[in-house]
Amino acid sequence: MRRRRAECNRPGPGPRYSRAMSVLSVTEHGLYCPAGDFYIDPWAPVDRALITHGHSDHARPGHRRYLATDTGAPVIRHRLGAIALETIRYAETRRIGAAMVSFHPAGHVPGSAQIRVEVAGEVWVVSGDYKPGPDGLSEPFEPVPCHTFISECTFGLPVFRWRPQAQVMAEIRDWWAENAAQGQASLLGAYALGKAQRLLVGLGDSGGPILTHGAIEATCRVMRAQGIALPDTVPVTPETDPRTHPGALVLAPPSALGSTWARRFGQASTGLASGWMALRGVRRRRAADRGFVLSDHADWDGLNAAIRATGAERVLMTHGYTGPFRRWLAEQGYDAGIVATAWEGETTEGDAE
Ligand SMILES: [Zn+2]
Ligand SMILES: [Zn+2]
Repeated sequence: MRRRRAECNRPGPGPRYSRAMSVLSVTEHGLYCPAGDFYIDPWAPVDRALITHGHSDHARPGHRRYLATDTGAPVIRHRLGAIALETIRYAETRRIGAAMVSFHPAGHVPGSAQIRVEVAGEVWVVSGDYKPGPDGLSEPFEPVPCHTFISECTFGLPVFRWRPQAQVMAEIRDWWAENAAQGQASLLGAYALGKAQRLLVGLGDSGGPILTHGAIEATCRVMRAQGIALPDTVPVTPETDPRTHPGALVLAPPSALGSTWARRFGQASTGLASGWMALRGVRRRRAADRGFVLSDHADWDGLNAAIRATGAERVLMTHGYTGPFRRWLAEQGYDAGIVATAWEGETTEGDAE
């Protein structure tokens, strides 16, 4: 027991916490809590899964039982169909086996949670995906004090620093107005869950009709049904005639931008709203006319502030720039490690939400 602990706490170059850990450990199915016999965001089918949020790298099909927040559940059901899903409110504590668990706002998308697990006085928090700044849509991120923080670091490099949301929205609004003045539609690529609705709320009813791709409209419908207020949208259907919506803003998943679906809008201007747009190479490769740097993840400063706010002594990284970020934290005096996962989270390519 004592020996194992010493091993886990050993600093040094690139420790990977893939073996036994006190509260959570990595197994072939995902992050596992032996005391409660459950998994968090497992990537292979398990008996009991605690799910941080509905994105597909976190909410996988095939588990026997699910537990998620009441506000995150509708989208998870929408995506996974008929599953055995129990819900929990933010900050509500539930005993599972010998573990006490609670879910806390992650500020990433509506209903997204960090999961706190306490076993015999030892507290671990799994961040899921998170964003510290308010976005006008998601329940604002709350730091949760813990001994060990398992943090995503999708954008864990100093080059990623987000500007205030209002500035980015103003930029998008200007682009939309310019295109509309030339009679062009503005095709804006955004993830169907979270980003698209955040754009809707941010752009509001300011510049004319907002059209939506089916995947985005379906998610909006789920959120409206649970009481989340979203501005009106016009779903694009096979019957939609773009000429009746001149200068419209069209929200679509990034993969739809270059597709036959998009061709109906003729000489439209295309844009992408993503944290990856901070990288010039990605902007060029994705071949959109405009890139807007807007992310639902923490940027460099956000990650550092969030980690500090937990008061954790040990920080384990998942998703994204785990290597460089772990080294940075170790230099700051943290006991820092990497949790190897099967998923790399939101990527620069495709629609891995
Ligand atoms: Zn996510
Ligand atoms: Zn993710």
